[in-house]
Amino acid sequence: MTRFGIGYDVHKLAPNRKLILGGVEIAHPLGLEAHSDGDVLIHAIIDALLGAATLGDIGQHFPMTDEFKNVSSCELLKRTCEMVSAKGYALGNVDSIIVAQKPKLAPHIGAMRQRLAQVMNIDIDAVSVKAKTEEGLGFTGTEQGIASYAVASLEK
Ligand code: MG
Repeated sequence: MTRFGIGYDVHKLAPNRKLILGGVEIAHPLGLEAHSDGDVLIHAIIDALLGAATLGDIGQHFPMTDEFKNVSSCELLKRTCEMVSAKGYALGNVDSIIVAQKPKLAPHIGAMRQRLAQVMNIDIDAVSVKAKTEEGLGFTGTEQGIASYAVASLEK
């Protein structure tokens, strides 16, 4: 049996924050504001995995408590994969989109896929990351924030 889940997340861009996407730190004057490290891509992937396993959502498992203050989203993804496995599911594949006007993300896609595959303990061929701009439109296009979408499949 194959199951699918969808995830979506947005974080605001702000100065004096690191920009971390897919577990990779990217040099940029702005970073993402959040209780955690603000890794909007990983947050979307986590919600896709939780959705596929009908395990609720990210806020339910990783609330804005001191325990998760500035936590690495890679750690949250790892814990999510453990919850999914504990419910008897094996990870299939993940596809995702980062919507950002800047910086140019193409040079970092390979590193993100590698890092995500390592954290989820799946083959890099099962992890897809794509980057899009929104042609200058809306909050992503005007660099107020970065959005991300993800789909995940699980097998049982
Ligand atoms: Mg988030």
